[in-house]
Amino acid sequence: MFLDIHTHSLSSDANIKKVFNLDITVNTLGEDLKHFFGENESVSVGIHPWSVSEELFFEQIEILEFLAADSRVKAIGEIGLDKLKGPDLKLQEEVFLKQIRVAEAVKKPAIVHCVKSFNELIAIKKVVRPKVPMIIHGFNRKVDLAKELTQKGFFLSFGRDLLESDLVKEALKSIPLEQVFFETDDDKVLIVSQVYKTAADILKIDIEVLKDRIYQNYLELYL
Ligand SMILES: [Zn+2]
Repeated sequence: MFLDIHTHSLSSDANIKKVFNLDITVNTLGEDLKHFFGENESVSVGIHPWSVSEELFFEQIEILEFLAADSRVKAIGEIGLDKLKGPDLKLQEEVFLKQIRVAEAVKKPAIVHCVKSFNELIAIKKVVRPKVPMIIHGFNRKVDLAKELTQKGFFLSFGRDLLESDLVKEALKSIPLEQVFFETDDDKVLIVSQVYKTAADILKIDIEVLKDRIYQNYLELYL
């Protein structure tokens, strides 16, 4: 089975396991979010850093706590830190920490959005020491950071930038395959014929072998 660990697309495909992402925004407060799960067996739920409301984040967290235990919720995310967009970083950090605690409580991995905040993210992991895995989605940085993050126990998920950037290709080559995932996010890329295919070419391995390896990573996370 191919795996798309982070997607905003509701379309389904029998050959691809997709983890559909649902963002708890102020606009969804008061709605029956389970309704949004639709037919999806695998969902990630979280408060995106851009969606954190200074006034209403406690309500957003309450909804997350309510949804997190649902068996269809496979991960808490995307959650994280973004220095370029969203509310004040202090508030983002506070809400991020609360969501990490939710992930810990339900023993589900966190899918992390991180923009220009890797030092803060590394510092938080060092202090909080979460037992749940942290998957940094949409990784689009260089070898050095990829190595540092995987050495510190983070998982990295690659998507569109793997197709476009030689630096990101080098980053994929430099880290253990046991800590790798692939995704489409909200981009118009195809998970198998573009993302997996590109990765298999870069790594010089058969796409079927890659498929099984990545799915094994998923099974190991979700035990
Ligand atoms: Zn996303």
